[in-house]
Amino acid sequence: MRVFAKNNYIFNLLSEAVSEGILVVDRAQIIVATNNNANIMFGYERDELIGQSVAVLVPYPHNKDHDRHVETFFDTHKSSGKMMVDRLLFGLRKNQEKFPVQIGLYPFSYEGIDYVFTLIFDKTEISKRDSQIKDLNDHLEKKIKTRTLELRETVAMLKKEIKKREEAETKMKIALQRERELSELRTKFLSLVSHEFKTPLSGILTSATLVGKYKDTDDQERRDKHLTTIIGEVRHLNGILTDFLSIERLEKGKEIYNYTKFSLSKVVNEVVYNANMLLKNGQKINYPHNIDEVVLYQDEKIFTLILTNLIYNSIKYAPEDSEIDISFEIVGDMIILKIKDYGIGIPEKDQKHIFERYFRAENALLNQGTGIGLNIIKEHIENLEGKIYFKSKEHMGTTFTVELPKGEGIHLELN
Ligand code: ADP
Repeated sequence: MRVFAKNNYIFNLLSEAVSEGILVVDRAQIIVATNNNANIMFGYERDELIGQSVAVLVPYPHNKDHDRHVETFFDTHKSSGKMMVDRLLFGLRKNQEKFPVQIGLYPFSYEGIDYVFTLIFDKTEISKRDSQIKDLNDHLEKKIKTRTLELRETVAMLKKEIKKREEAETKMKIALQRERELSELRTKFLSLVSHEFKTPLSGILTSATLVGKYKDTDDQERRDKHLTTIIGEVRHLNGILTDFLSIERLEKGKEIYNYTKFSLSKVVNEVVYNANMLLKNGQKINYPHNIDEVVLYQDEKIFTLILTNLIYNSIKYAPEDSEIDISFEIVGDMIILKIKDYGIGIPEKDQKHIFERYFRAENALLNQGTGIGLNIIKEHIENLEGKIYFKSKEHMGTTFTVELPKGEGIHLELN
């Protein structure tokens, strides 16, 4: 602060007391005064900077525009009387080392000459700390990224594990449900069998006992009557067992359909012949006799089962002295079978459940039955790509219709 020290001892004292570097530069950018801190900061001896251009303290490329900046600065700020604190810049030490500085500029005039009082803050330490903080932040960010990735992987693994467990649980639930259904089926089967077998068996027992009592030759008619009862009941029991076996095969997907050519009239005659034994007093089955020429290509056993089931139901659920009409029709590729009775009918509220397994309508409960037959034949019919439906009115009667593919390349004629 030599220029000013001559005249102002206090000024000099103050400039040496502050911890920042101080430079005083004239309009020609010549350094006219420095404090000790500025000398130390830039690596110069005392007074070494005096008379030098300030440009020696500004590193390339910032020194390029320095002259212009100083000029503009004088013009714009001279009259403001305010200290201008500039952004972060770089200073150049004597050993050509660049270092970060922040400068505060204060223009003033002394004895008619313009000067700039420059306060220089060495930012090396702060910059170092900033970069350390930045490094630390980067490091932390990286760590967070790695941890997030690890967490994501763990979450994905956990999700997989949960899914696996859920699948295992579902499988277990299904197995348990099947087990429960099977056990229910067994219980139902046992109760049905014991209930359904009781009456026919006692009928068979009575008839057999009575047959034994008719020893005379002219008792043959009575013997025949009881034998017919026995045959009918055995057939009925056999039917129930067939139904249960059918359920098991269908459940296990074991049912294999065996397509063959067979004569429709042969099957109808057999079924009607057997059904005649079950007819109530005055009941009569009407069936078409014009089906002699019809040959079907279907599973004969299943076709027989369907026909038998529907005819037996009609007999069972229709009163004495009523007729049962069987008819066949061919529409396109389908053979359409209708079985019509004038029996008790199916109450409207029960109609939607009629094909459900074990379901029996309210008005049918006085008759023997298991509620299995319709369920089984529906499943068979659908497996054979056909359908079954019905129309019924309580106290008026019921018509069941079955549509089945007649089979390919088969001679079919219905007049
Ligand atoms: P089941 O006759 O052994 O009870 P099905 O499965 O053959 O079992 O029939 C289910 C139910 O459908 C019967 O219980 C009865 O309520 C009703 N049903 C079936 N056919 C007829 C019919 N022709 N007339 C009136 N109701 C019928």
